[in-house]
Amino acid sequence: MTRVPRAAFAWVTKKLKGEVALPLCTTNRINMPDVAESLLADGTADMVSMARPFLADPEFVNKAASARVDEINTCIACNQACLDHTFQWKRASCLVNPRAGHETKLNFGPAKKIRDIAVVGAGPAGLEAATRLAERGHRVTLFDGASEIGGQFNMAKRIPGKEEFYETLRYYARKLELLGVDIRLNTLVDADDLVAMGFDERVIATGVNPRTPAIEGIEHPSVASYIDIITGRVEAGRRVAVIGAGGIGFDVSEFLTHTRPSPAEDKQKFFDEWGVDPTLTHEAGLIKPDPEPSPREVWLLQRTDAKPGKGLGKTSGWAHRASLKHKGVHMMGGVTYERIDDAGLHIRVDDQPQVLDVDTVVICAGQQTRRELADTLGARGVKTHVIGGAQLAAELDAKRAIREAAELAAAL
Ligand SMILES: Cc1cc2nc3c(=O)[nH]c(=O)nc-3n(C[C@H](O)[C@H](O)[C@H](O)COP(=O)(O)OP(=O)(O)OC[C@H]3O[C@@H](n4cnc5c(N)ncnc54)[C@H](O)[C@@H]3O)c2cc1C
Ligand code: SF4
Repeated sequence: MTRVPRAAFAWVTKKLKGEVALPLCTTNRINMPDVAESLLADGTADMVSMARPFLADPEFVNKAASARVDEINTCIACNQACLDHTFQWKRASCLVNPRAGHETKLNFGPAKKIRDIAVVGAGPAGLEAATRLAERGHRVTLFDGASEIGGQFNMAKRIPGKEEFYETLRYYARKLELLGVDIRLNTLVDADDLVAMGFDERVIATGVNPRTPAIEGIEHPSVASYIDIITGRVEAGRRVAVIGAGGIGFDVSEFLTHTRPSPAEDKQKFFDEWGVDPTLTHEAGLIKPDPEPSPREVWLLQRTDAKPGKGLGKTSGWAHRASLKHKGVHMMGGVTYERIDDAGLHIRVDDQPQVLDVDTVVICAGQQTRRELADTLGARGVKTHVIGGAQLAAELDAKRAIREAAELAAAL
């Protein structure tokens, strides 16, 4: 899982090295050559085993051997397309490399006809489309209104435990550079611009906007969007209600209840939080978890009375829930939101009114497609290819956004 620090359990092999006279192989969360190298160099193990990193990048070893480490598509340990698929009897693949497991069907050979292609939006969908199209020989111009590539991955990377998402952005940035994609940042494109520039094909990957629920008092100064909180535009108070317990609501709660460095960046913090005993003096190497106290009291709320986080990953959902439990987050389902005012957030649970006396209310109530551009072009009879969040906001994740982009790029 992403929240596990790199090589977090290699110490177990190191400990065994002193006890057995056999060559030993170490494993788990070794996802970059420098991590592997340091384990061999400091005598932790004689060999290093990797599995998921080769799904993410089958050229891993060749790239490492030819000093092209910055070209490696790093496994972010999300489990979303590999282990989560396996445990659902689906074909294992990879979020950052949808070709994995589909090598006979999804290929990016030279294009029959080289075209000038505009890709609008440099989120995961746009980045995958731009790099795969350029790989096939097309002349690609990539636009984004923001000052950096990445779209929502620029928020995901700031979540404690999701630091590996920085690697995906490093990988795409390097690929764009190597492939000579014309990148136009700080460039919000409209339909007139695109038509005037006269591209042969237009890929619209404009993503999503947050949805604002109709709650009385939603304009109250205590209300912030998940974007405000994650980007640091708004500093949350000591007592916070998070409206919406989907993936982003969980991530925002992680953000609000952890300090830097995150446990994924600090092994001791991780061991303390999860009750791992690296001295192995306790049975099974387990001790009572002793997580750092949360700097805030957080309520994570949802309208449905299903189990909070029901839609999270099969192999990681339990860890998200346990992590927030460690931090004392109050998870509440079956909540009706009545209003927000100076007293806090007024809710109703089991038909009983309650007031959560909070300083900040963070809205994580879903997203809406950002498809004005696609719709305007469509209305003018201009053909577009719409992918990722711009195509469908419901159940959106990067796995789908990247896969749709790869499939489109293979077909154009
Ligand atoms: C905190 C957080 C954590 C997440 N964690 C995960 C996770 O663990 N796993 C997962 O699979 N997914 C995760 N996601 C979701 C994932 O990031 C999205 O599904 C994915 O980013 C969608 O990709 P996209 O390219 O369709 O859209 P976006 O990422 O929204 O990118 C759209 C881009 O288009 C640009 N744009 C829009 N209109 C224009 C225009 N007219 N001109 C120029 N540029 C324009 C925007 O500036 C933006 O950069 C997370 C999201 C957040 C917010
Ligand atoms: S799906 Fe995620 S964890 Fe699995 S190999 Fe790909 S990046 Fe790694």
